[in-house]
Amino acid sequence: MNRRIKKASRHTNQNEGLIFEKSSPGKRAFELPPLDVPNIDPTEALGENHRSEGIGGFPEVSEIEVIRHFTRLSTWNYAIDYGMYPLGSCTMKYNPRVNEFVARLDGIATEHPYQPQELSQGCLKILRLLEQCLLEITGMDNITLQPAAGAQGELTGLLLIRAYLEKQGNPRKKVLIPDSAHGTNPATAVIAGYEVENIKSESHGQIDVDKLRELVTPDVAALMITNPSTLGIFEQRIPEIAKILHDKGALLYMDGANMNALAGVTRPGDLGVDVMHLNLHKTFSTPHGGGGPGAGPVAMKKILEPFRPVPILVEKEGGRLALESIRPDSIGRVKAFSGNFGVLVRALAYILAYGPGIRQATEDAVLNANYIRKHLEGAYDLPYSLPSMHEVVFSDAHQKKNGVNTMDIAKRLIDYGFHPYTTAFPLIVPGALMIEPTESESKEECDLFIDAMRSIAEEAATNPELVKTAPHSTRVRRLDEVGAARKPILRWDPSRQEPQPDSAEHRKRKHLEPTPVIPTA
Ligand SMILES: *Cc1c(COP(=O)(O)O)cnc(C)c1O
Repeated sequence: MNRRIKKASRHTNQNEGLIFEKSSPGKRAFELPPLDVPNIDPTEALGENHRSEGIGGFPEVSEIEVIRHFTRLSTWNYAIDYGMYPLGSCTMKYNPRVNEFVARLDGIATEHPYQPQELSQGCLKILRLLEQCLLEITGMDNITLQPAAGAQGELTGLLLIRAYLEKQGNPRKKVLIPDSAHGTNPATAVIAGYEVENIKSESHGQIDVDKLRELVTPDVAALMITNPSTLGIFEQRIPEIAKILHDKGALLYMDGANMNALAGVTRPGDLGVDVMHLNLHKTFSTPHGGGGPGAGPVAMKKILEPFRPVPILVEKEGGRLALESIRPDSIGRVKAFSGNFGVLVRALAYILAYGPGIRQATEDAVLNANYIRKHLEGAYDLPYSLPSMHEVVFSDAHQKKNGVNTMDIAKRLIDYGFHPYTTAFPLIVPGALMIEPTESESKEECDLFIDAMRSIAEEAATNPELVKTAPHSTRVRRLDEVGAARKPILRWDPSRQEPQPDSAEHRKRKHLEPTPVIPTA
């Protein structure tokens, strides 16, 4: 009995290396039959320029290695299909599969934007119907579906305001932005050529209306207001704010990325908002978080209509739809064709499936956020106490006393099986914990989350080190997040990279012995 077995160690599916490290010369994931066209020399037939011997440095692996590699990596990821994803300001809700099915239907997925308009009437009808639904939801007069994201919607909206004011002879100089606005707002205003002036919130987290009245001078083009604000609080004095601006010839922009708190309950158009964007990839169920694609339609009042991006969808006699590109006052195109069509289809499918029930989705989102708030009040500091809408913002003030901050708590939450909430945002709350459960979560899942958060608060008081060194259950511990953002290494170069410790490649390069073997009886 001289058989030797390897010491038991974790299977590689717990420690997957790079696909390059699995490469060995000559391995393939396919086998083509030999060429059976008689009397033909492929090199000659194709020409020397079209011949390739392969891509230098490309991994050579078998089919099952490719499949297992990517399947294993996919199990390392956290996803909305896996568990609660309470990332505040992001509305990580469940994306019903029926919307995916609709977006993949023949005649929707297979159409080409260069197809003649007479042959695209169905697709144009989808766009038309979505426009009508979004106008009903927002209470606005007109809309463009072109922008590809919320931030691009903001830019489109400000360019509309600029064009409108320019037409009247003076584009003005400043855009006012409250400190409770989303961070993209000031960046957008600067790109649109405006100076930004900050407005401090009053003690309840609302816009300081008296201060606003002082600040609205003839130099002010617009106020950009996020509603609900990044504190998750509804701005209560919007009609009054709109009037202050309108009396001075300025306009009101509303960042409507958070429509998940308003859809079916209240309409920004009725409150006096002049122009706003929506994030279809938040409220209207398009999967997101992986970098796109998205859609940020911009809805507006009549005064801004002449400046809309072209092409514009119009209804001709007999109900025929057409795209028109000649509009002398248009700000031009902001995106190819009519925007990200697949995303628009998903949003329409979602809205039609809910119908008037969209109001209940909103109410449930608000209910979930308030349920969590109620059960975490006391355990965590609540800096603003006005009623919460779709998200609730706590601070780490209690835990700070033991040296535990919002990032530590978020990392510890990973050990409990949840995706972290949004940390350190909004900036007006030092050490913020921004929690948005969305309507997707059941009471049971919310309860598990509450238990986890309460338990972490307890740990922060009794064993702060445990929280400060979290996560403990993950394959990698704390990452260098600043380094990853500032100095990303996006290309694998075999000569520059250190192979994964303990991989075959690592041992080969370091001339290490294979994993020790122990004899058995
Ligand atoms: C997400 C978000 C944005 C930006 O949207 P993108 O699609 O990521 O560009 C803007 N404002 C608010 C309030 C948001 O939550």
